[in-house]
Amino acid sequence: MARQLDSATREALQARVRFYRDLGLTEFYRRPVDSALMEQLASEPEPFQSQNLGASGLASETWNQSSKSIDSRVENPIPSRKHMIAAPEIGTVVPAAERAAALQIIRDDIGDCTRCALHTGRNKLVFGDGDPAARLMFVGEGPGADEDAQGLPFVGKAGQLLNNMIAAMGLKREEVYIANVVKCRPPGNRVPEQEEGATCSPFLFRQIDVVRPKVLVALGATAATWLLGKHQPLAGLRGRVHAVRGTQLIVTYHPAYLLRDPRQKKEAWADLQIAMRELGLKSPGRS
Ligand code: SF4
Repeated sequence: MARQLDSATREALQARVRFYRDLGLTEFYRRPVDSALMEQLASEPEPFQSQNLGASGLASETWNQSSKSIDSRVENPIPSRKHMIAAPEIGTVVPAAERAAALQIIRDDIGDCTRCALHTGRNKLVFGDGDPAARLMFVGEGPGADEDAQGLPFVGKAGQLLNNMIAAMGLKREEVYIANVVKCRPPGNRVPEQEEGATCSPFLFRQIDVVRPKVLVALGATAATWLLGKHQPLAGLRGRVHAVRGTQLIVTYHPAYLLRDPRQKKEAWADLQIAMRELGLKSPGRS
């Protein structure tokens, strides 16, 4: 008989189980689980399942609006930039114990930034979040509405999915570091302009150099483009390890895209397994 769970725990478990199921993972637990409870959680509806979708195929008014911008990003995933500005030189290694302070220096340097046009629509600047000495760092494109409101990266629906992806890797969100190419929300969630990315991305490079993750994961084409300094279709970048700023880069889909096309979750999981291999993490189901 299924145990009673509080609603927050239940919701988190439902999301986790659905994510695993989408990946085709059903037999990976190393200790006995309440199979009736797992089955019950997996079968309960989620906000983005078809019965909640309107004629547009989107789940809610809010999501509907934000997804229009995401749609345009997905249809044209590589920004039409003519050139990329080279990343600054890689700095000296910051001792792990000093990385939080080093990140704070970068944050202080950014200040109440007005260096590019994105500051005009900003509610909160989204610097980054997580373990300053993380072995794994995710890089996204820029803040969305939820992130702009809270000042934290990946806290909306896409963030919930990213949390599930991190958990599927056997990690906690607090164990990774997360940042974006631009730190202020582009209007309507559009792709950052060349000028905006060029102005803001040096701060990201400094964050990467301080955190010095063993593995970087670029979430989506914009992050991959700025990290690699070149335009390539996402398909040509996925499935292999790139070298960036003295670390290893894996490229995968943006969680917002995975929400729009859940069939690609298995592909994303394959990418994350490459990251896990590089980190020495075991995949679920492997002893
Ligand atoms: S996006 Fe970056 S460079 Fe532009 S205003 Fe915000 S912090 Fe400054």
